[in-house]
Amino acid sequence: MLQQTQVKTVIPYFKKFLLNFSTLESLSRSNEKKVLKLWEGLGYYRRARNLLVTSKLLVREHNSKLPKKIIDIKKLPGIGDYTANALLAFIHDQPAIAIDGNVKRVFSRILNKKENELDFYKLIEINKKTLFKERRNSDIVEALMEFGALICKPKEPECLKCNINNICKYFKSDKKFKQIKKIKQKEKSYNIFCYIDKIKNKIALTKKHDLGFLDKFYLPPITETVGTNKIKNWNFHSNFKNFISNKKLNINLYYKFSSKLPLQSQWFSLKENNEFIPSFTKKIFKQISNIN
Ligand code: SF4
Repeated sequence: MLQQTQVKTVIPYFKKFLLNFSTLESLSRSNEKKVLKLWEGLGYYRRARNLLVTSKLLVREHNSKLPKKIIDIKKLPGIGDYTANALLAFIHDQPAIAIDGNVKRVFSRILNKKENELDFYKLIEINKKTLFKERRNSDIVEALMEFGALICKPKEPECLKCNINNICKYFKSDKKFKQIKKIKQKEKSYNIFCYIDKIKNKIALTKKHDLGFLDKFYLPPITETVGTNKIKNWNFHSNFKNFISNKKLNINLYYKFSSKLPLQSQWFSLKENNEFIPSFTKKIFKQISNIN
């Protein structure tokens, strides 16, 4: 849940999730519809699906335990190097470090080298004896993350307060390395077509679209486009920007009143649905709710 999501946003979802699934087994016996409904509004829904599949795999193939080898952990859906190392450290207390942006920045600064000049996994392997003790290895992982977030911050690190400034080459050097600037993401434009049944207060949604990041989710018919255009037989409603799964979208919203259901679509209430509706679609509901 915490992937790309702030703690304060996650807390109510986490509590609700644990109330529904207090054990791995209870989660593994559930289904996608229920899990997605509990996740509704949190975004990045692939995480919810992966979590459910993982719980089933762990119960069925690993005796309800997390494997102890990184190679086995990485076979679980949605788990790459970062999460696998975090799990090894936090759950099995193994000498492993989850390398995120904070950790990379801290190591780069201590060595006063650009991130792309360093092989972080190799660096950790070489310095294993210094970094890890026999027990509480998970503490070093957490400490590094917190240290990067609170002291060795991206901008204006608190070097004078820093307890390791005596070993830090960045602090001591007159020639400080320059961080690589992040490449700005290009935005993509989409036209969204809302068929609205005014009498029943319903909207047509479909799962048949090729938006990989909202794969298998209900959306109004949507197509990729360039800029904003006038489209015959459609009323232009608004243009807005949206971020989904780190992607920047430029949305042109069109609507028409129609009681005829478009192909491969279903009617949904603009108010309340039992079915899971992603927050992006709900945002569209809100946008068009003022149409008369
Ligand atoms: S001295 Fe400054 S740059 Fe070096 S680790 Fe500490 S906070 Fe980071």
